[in-house]
Amino acid sequence: MDANPHKIYMDRCFELAAIAASQGESAVGSVVVLNGEIIGEGYEKSRQLQDVTRHAEVVAILDAVQKRGTCKEAVLYSNIEPCILCSYVIRHHKIASVVFGKYCGELGGTVEKFNILTTNVIKSWKAAPAVHVYDDTSTKNN
Ligand SMILES: [Zn+2]
Repeated sequence: MDANPHKIYMDRCFELAAIAASQGESAVGSVVVLNGEIIGEGYEKSRQLQDVTRHAEVVAILDAVQKRGTCKEAVLYSNIEPCILCSYVIRHHKIASVVFGKYCGELGGTVEKFNILTTNVIKSWKAAPAVHVYDDTSTKNN
């Protein structure tokens, strides 16, 4: 078994991101995990659906909600930091933790000025430094 418990889910994100890229979308994939099980997954579909809200994270959350009725207390994985749009959706659905790869830049949900993922609703966001796996700081702005 792999020493990093997040790797299996991040690997799935990378697979989904590759599917998105092969369809001309931004290379973003996301999964929602509850008790070790993937309950929702998605990849970027904004261009093909002509809907700017169809980011990978939103697609994964909607998939999980459709299958389970809720994402509460789940962990969301994404190969890219959720943007502020996705971060609001994450907050709304009371997802407990977020694990991401690269920072997405000034529209990322962890940017302090937007203050979206720092409320008590996202209980473990700041309390769980382990959520920042595969953090490629070389791509972080500034
Ligand atoms: Zn987004």
